[in-house]
Amino acid sequence: MNYLRIVIVGGGIAGLAAAIALREGDREITILEQSSISQEIGATISLQPNASKIVEQRWGLESRLKELGSMVDEAFEVYNLDGERQMRIPLLTKDKYGAERMMYHRADLFQALKERATSSAFPGRPASIRTSSRVVSCDCEKGIVELVNGQVLSADVIIGADGIKSTIRQSILGEDVIAHPTGLSAYRMMLPTEGLAKETDFRSIINPYEGRTLMVIGRDRRLIMGPARNGTIYSIVALVPDESMHEDSANTSWVTKGDHSKMMKIFADFPAWTKKPLQLAKGSALGLWQLRDLDPLRTWCRERAILIGDAAHAMLPTQGQGASQAIEDAEALGAFYDAFENSAMADIPDGVAQINKAIFRCRYDRATMIQAYSRQAAKPAVESGDHRVKMNPAEFMDYNCSYDGARDWEKRQNQQLAF
Ligand SMILES: Cc1cc2nc3c(=O)[nH]c(=O)nc-3n(C[C@H](O)[C@H](O)[C@H](O)COP(=O)(O)OP(=O)(O)OC[C@H]3O[C@@H](n4cnc5c(N)ncnc54)[C@H](O)[C@@H]3O)c2cc1C
Repeated sequence: MNYLRIVIVGGGIAGLAAAIALREGDREITILEQSSISQEIGATISLQPNASKIVEQRWGLESRLKELGSMVDEAFEVYNLDGERQMRIPLLTKDKYGAERMMYHRADLFQALKERATSSAFPGRPASIRTSSRVVSCDCEKGIVELVNGQVLSADVIIGADGIKSTIRQSILGEDVIAHPTGLSAYRMMLPTEGLAKETDFRSIINPYEGRTLMVIGRDRRLIMGPARNGTIYSIVALVPDESMHEDSANTSWVTKGDHSKMMKIFADFPAWTKKPLQLAKGSALGLWQLRDLDPLRTWCRERAILIGDAAHAMLPTQGQGASQAIEDAEALGAFYDAFENSAMADIPDGVAQINKAIFRCRYDRATMIQAYSRQAAKPAVESGDHRVKMNPAEFMDYNCSYDGARDWEKRQNQQLAF
């Protein structure tokens, strides 16, 4: 039997997840990563039940992630500018959705996924990661990618997991579709709990040892806060309008170094208990990300190549679904290519192209809907001068979290069409 040879362009969360989902039998999986080291940035990330179910249960990473300090996110609390709690949504979701919403350090999630993709301790042939391997072009019909050093690799399937500035997207669409600024930027901070405990009203509202996500909402700014690594670190994402980015206009990067005093000015009218941790971020690496997203693409696939993750549907982080959708994409690859080599599809000349189209059909509406929700949720949440929160984050929860893998979703879609 000829097992598939698969090239995955991009070794981020989407690329590693795709390798896990596809490592079956003796498939040869090569991940090409442009950076010289394979690692993630220092920040926290949460996976919603739709994705934590896949990572922790299907791929069996629950105990490894727990060892690395994963935390269950037990509640989502929304506060107004007076520091009063407006809403508390209990998030213990296992009974309803079959899994919890989980909080991780990004580097830990990345590490666990990398081990699962590349270690020989798991079923299937381990994937190999080639760093310093920037792909510059892809022939989707022939299944060929070219690296910046001129080296050429061929494959039966090419997966474009190369993020928001994807090269493979251009090859698939035949045009350059770029991600546009969304009008929002995000400061990101990670504080050691030790420092926080000394300086703040520790354990009053902010308690890093409790798995809770806090959101404080002003008219056009908001703070999203939560712990990771068993409460030893506390993360803050501060969303601000782009004009607050104070970015050098000649700077074309989407990530700049944040100016701490400017950030403090922007959040001057926020409650005192939020300003103390913001103050502590002084002197730490303060990044300022310009947030961009994509309009829905016309397609994600062409012949042997298919896009997943941010390359296909980059979205705003307002619902914490970007990586979660990348993981759903990866699971879909595994489900649709399951036993491909033994199936009738393997004998059809364009069998791979047909499977790629089927994956796209299954995934597109859902990912596009969640992309749209994420944009909608970014709209100013309160009217000027009115401190009451009007947005209800629970609204989208059911759609997002009631998910049990691509094949189940496909069945549900077909049942809906039948009525
Ligand atoms: C502030 C913020 C907070 C967020 N919080 C959450 C959250 O809580 N939960 C959540 O689910 N999502 C969250 N997200 C979204 C999430 O981070 C992304 O959706 C996710 O990381 C996308 O993964 P990816 O692998 O598709 O892309 P990336 O992480 O961008 O990985 C792409 C990889 O491809 C490589 N690459 C690029 N081009 C090439 C090339 N030509 N050749 C070879 N390699 C290449 C890159 O070096 C990179 O390693 C957040 C995003 C932001 C900005």
